[in-house]
Amino acid sequence: MRIRVDTRYEFWGYTEVELPEGKTSDDIKEMYMKLCHGSIEFKDGTTLERYFYENHDNVHEYLIRPEELTFEEVEWEKCEKCEEKYYPQFINQTMCDDCEIE
Ligand SMILES: [Zn+2]
Repeated sequence: MRIRVDTRYEFWGYTEVELPEGKTSDDIKEMYMKLCHGSIEFKDGTTLERYFYENHDNVHEYLIRPEELTFEEVEWEKCEKCEEKYYPQFINQTMCDDCEIE
């Protein structure tokens, strides 16, 4: 029997950021983060693109065990060409991977 195992990990980040001279946290309108790079948009209209970087050196600590783990049976299908058992990788698949390639 084949089962699928789904896991969910939770990451926490911590970064200390030095704001430019004269700016306080009250001046911040919004902050964005993408791929560990943080940008700051101030209320006066100025922005600091990719101003700081979030360090992820300790990410492996969060991978020690997942927050959540679930599993369920994977349903098998009979290939309509060779009639062997196979596990569909996508919806509407009617043949095993070997037959699909041919
Ligand atoms: Zn087949």
